[in-house]
Amino acid sequence: MRKRLLIVGGSYAASELACQARESGYAEEILIVSDEGDLPYHRPPLSKSYLKDPGEELMPLRAEAFYRDKAIEVELGSKVVAIDGRGNRATLSNDVVIPFDTLALTTGARARTLPGLETCPGNLHYVRSVADARNLRLAIPGAEKVVIIGAGFIGLEVASALVRQNKHVTVVEAADRVLARAVSPELSRLLSAIHAQNGVNLITSRKVRPIIGPSGQINRLEMDDSLILKADIVVVGVGSQPNLELAQQLELHVGNGIIVDNRSRTSKSNVFAAGDCATFAGEFNRAGIRLESVQNAIDQARIAGNAIAGGDKVYHAVPWFWSDQYESKIQIAGLSSETTHSESRRGEKSDVSVFHFRDDVCVSVESVNRPRDHMAARRLLAGGKDITRRRLQEVDFNISALLNA
Ligand SMILES: Cc1cc2nc3c(=O)[nH]c(=O)nc-3n(C[C@H](O)[C@H](O)[C@H](O)COP(=O)(O)OP(=O)(O)OC[C@H]3O[C@@H](n4cnc5c(N)ncnc54)[C@H](O)[C@@H]3O)c2cc1C
Repeated sequence: MRKRLLIVGGSYAASELACQARESGYAEEILIVSDEGDLPYHRPPLSKSYLKDPGEELMPLRAEAFYRDKAIEVELGSKVVAIDGRGNRATLSNDVVIPFDTLALTTGARARTLPGLETCPGNLHYVRSVADARNLRLAIPGAEKVVIIGAGFIGLEVASALVRQNKHVTVVEAADRVLARAVSPELSRLLSAIHAQNGVNLITSRKVRPIIGPSGQINRLEMDDSLILKADIVVVGVGSQPNLELAQQLELHVGNGIIVDNRSRTSKSNVFAAGDCATFAGEFNRAGIRLESVQNAIDQARIAGNAIAGGDKVYHAVPWFWSDQYESKIQIAGLSSETTHSESRRGEKSDVSVFHFRDDVCVSVESVNRPRDHMAARRLLAGGKDITRRRLQEVDFNISALLNA
């Protein structure tokens, strides 16, 4: 009997892992089991263009024929509910039992919910899956007032999509600045100004409590200073949490994600993990971090697929991320945790790059509408040579100039 690689999850990491395993020579059966109803698709547009254009279709990562041609079986609409690690068997929500030899967990993350609001009243929306985005998109035409809880990337992207449709948008954030966990204070200030210019009412350092009215819908939100906000739609973007239930059943080493090494191996020899559900400690973050980005999901999955096929590739990709808000393209290369200082360069328009240093070595560059800086930063960070502050000063922080140096 042929052996089987079972991949749990149906998104970037699952699709890439299957593809890479095949391309690296894995000749046994490959089965992807996803609890979503669609083939793996592009998730970032869900909080951006998908909300702006009611005609925009879901974009699959790869066509159905691709999986067929590579002999990758995809079972959609099935959840893996239990895994018996000793017997190497997975049980699906329809009670079907699937034996496997190698297991890949690419279960990703789910939207963090507000306490007491795990199941959505009719007008409360989380944005994680296409089903969520479809529901929100259907509700947009009938709404006038929108309250968004959380000024993270998703909250701000949804704000920019809805305010451009003439909705009255208020964003409430508990921290004292937008994107506090993800970007520098300078970028927070710039983005706050851009949102204010576009008509978003941005409230920071405040918590809100949604109040459900007799109709079962949220009809108002109470702020901690007793102010009341009215809302036709409430969108919650307060982060995500990794889907770790199966890893816990398998008793894998788990922290804020499934702990993997630089070959995407978990603490069990036949189990791999990649993407939003995985935590990895590498050259860019020695303490270990769970990165939620398309780049990381794809790169880690490539490594896992290669390892499963017997290859020896290791993960040392430069983390990078992007977000689109209005006409601003925000791009981040590297990680700005544990940095000691930063320096920025502003252009004539609202373009800026913020350089973050750890002990005089640049470890991350945040850019708004400066794609050349971003690309140069990615290439230089990947190059392994220290980008010192002095080198950057010599070229007046024109980082692209260092590429040819
Ligand atoms: C609205 C939105 C906008 C984003 N925008 C950006 C952006 O601009 N740039 C960027 O870099 N990143 C962005 N991200 C993050 C990016 O989409 C994720 O990092 C990426 O999707 C992670 O891929 P993944 O395969 O690891 O996991 P996920 O995409 O989370 O997929 C996990 C899959 O596994 C399925 N699953 C989970 N458990 C089971 C089970 N037990 N059985 C079967 N199936 C299961 C889930 O339903 C899901 O299909 C965005 C995310 C969201 C939600």
